Amino acid sequence: MNTGENGNSRKKSKSLRVLFNCQKCPAYCCSYDRIETTRRDIHRLAKHFQISYTQAEKRYTKIAYGDRVLRQRKDHIFKKVCQFLDSETRRCTIYEARPEVCRDYPDSLRCGYYDFLASERRRQDDEEFIPSA
Ligand code: SF4
Ligand code: SF4
Repeated sequence: MNTGENGNSRKKSKSLRVLFNCQKCPAYCCSYDRIETTRRDIHRLAKHFQISYTQAEKRYTKIAYGDRVLRQRKDHIFKKVCQFLDSETRRCTIYEARPEVCRDYPDSLRCGYYDFLASERRRQDDEEFIPSA
């Protein structure tokens, strides 16, 4: 999930060309409202912010849909995004401490969000077009 130095969440094999470009995306994946967090993820957040596990759990996560997920905040592009997304640069502010699901997404050469974004941009004939989440 969005986004590190090279824009892609995960390093792919050099011989494989990924079919998405995080540099041309306003972090669509970070607008997903169910970014699950495991105990390990919360431990990592606690260590990153040098606070206790309980503080990290309370401050950065909540229960939604029966799962523990990252909290969100309002955004000027999407309705809401992960609280750790920089709203201007559209980069993750806790890249080294992001949850496992963010490290794993997308786990293929394609990104569903990017496919949708690209198809809407083609349809609108507007390279800057961003569908609201
Ligand atoms: S939605 Fe896809 S293309 Fe956009 S930042 Fe996330 S992984 Fe990258
Ligand atoms: S932790 Fe970072 S990569 Fe994961 S959803 Fe939040 S901003 Fe995106």
